[in-house]
Amino acid sequence: MSFPADGPLRIGLPRGIVAHVMSDRRAALSPIAADAAGQAGPGGRKVIHIDMDAFYASVEQRDDPSLRGLPVAVGGSAERGVVAAASYEARVFGVRSAMPSVTARRRCPALVFVKPRFDVYKAVSAQIRAIFAEHTDIIEPLSLDEAYLDVTQNKQAIASATAIAQDIRRRIREETGLTASAGVSYNKFLAKLASDHRKPDGLFVVTPAMGERFVETLPVARFHGVGPATAAKMEHLGIRTGADLKAQSLGFLQERFGKIGPYYYGISRGLDERPVRANRIRKSVGAENTFSADLHTEHEMREALGPIIDKVWRHCETAGTRGRTVTLKVKYADFRQITRAQSSPAPVASRADIERAAFRLLADLPADPRGVRLLGVTLSALEEGREGERTDEPAQFALPL
Ligand SMILES: [Mg+2]
Repeated sequence: MSFPADGPLRIGLPRGIVAHVMSDRRAALSPIAADAAGQAGPGGRKVIHIDMDAFYASVEQRDDPSLRGLPVAVGGSAERGVVAAASYEARVFGVRSAMPSVTARRRCPALVFVKPRFDVYKAVSAQIRAIFAEHTDIIEPLSLDEAYLDVTQNKQAIASATAIAQDIRRRIREETGLTASAGVSYNKFLAKLASDHRKPDGLFVVTPAMGERFVETLPVARFHGVGPATAAKMEHLGIRTGADLKAQSLGFLQERFGKIGPYYYGISRGLDERPVRANRIRKSVGAENTFSADLHTEHEMREALGPIIDKVWRHCETAGTRGRTVTLKVKYADFRQITRAQSSPAPVASRADIERAAFRLLADLPADPRGVRLLGVTLSALEEGREGERTDEPAQFALPL
């Protein structure tokens, strides 16, 4: 499958953030052709997914012993603040990353807010990447704390991917004082599911013999590429588990989900042919909304932009991303659309900066009698390497807010 150049995407992490993201290289999902029963797995790959446990929060607890054992949220506590990461103690209260700080504090009044230190997270990320690189150069980071590794061929000629994953987990613990969870399988989809299965500080292996059954038992909402909106749509169609998904025909899934349909068809059978790709760098982040009723006044449009800008900014805060170009997209009732962009020499530093730019672009639009059915805001010209933002989106969705 291919991705439209400007399609909205749900980012993989953290769940709940609705944003679209563009990569410099798109994963080309070829039609599902492999046989799950193959000994080495379809495509003969050995894939490890490594995911640091509550990464930012764990780094803060490591560096400040007084925070250990406490519910900690990394992120801003201000009114518009967002939780970038929550410690396990905070998660017990239902605090999650990408949650507005106000909500988090309501759920956990004792929550301790800590300002993010992206420079430190970046340094730890470089440490773990160096450990990965002792085994393979085919490393695809999804964020600072998460990566896929293809170890089919590996530098130390270790036959067992599980042994490599164990070694990496041990080395991460020794060298950073932090824990990571690992998933081992024959493709990316399953490796990521597996790393989540025994979290935190766990290792789980999904063999070719297990893959199909493993997927059947899980709720589709857990699947990479099934965001909240898609999960709701699937629920509506009676699709709750991998088994439910597998019961659908390819034609049905294509009809209901478009280009992503074949991906769903494949993963429900434990199949995913996306290769592990090194160096996919995120180029933009954005969000958009299609309205149930067309908008006609500038006032209505400004109001409607609020939650869209919130989402873009929430992502910026969560990931430490900054960008210089704000783009406004307007789709009219007749489905024609225009985009207008504004760049500034310095990266946007606040939600207000994005809002100011978006409102100016909106105000500069010529008067138009057509109603507006969709508005979108994208931030691009992202600051390189601030948090090494990478991306791996198997799916793109039209995302209702
Ligand atoms: Mg993590």
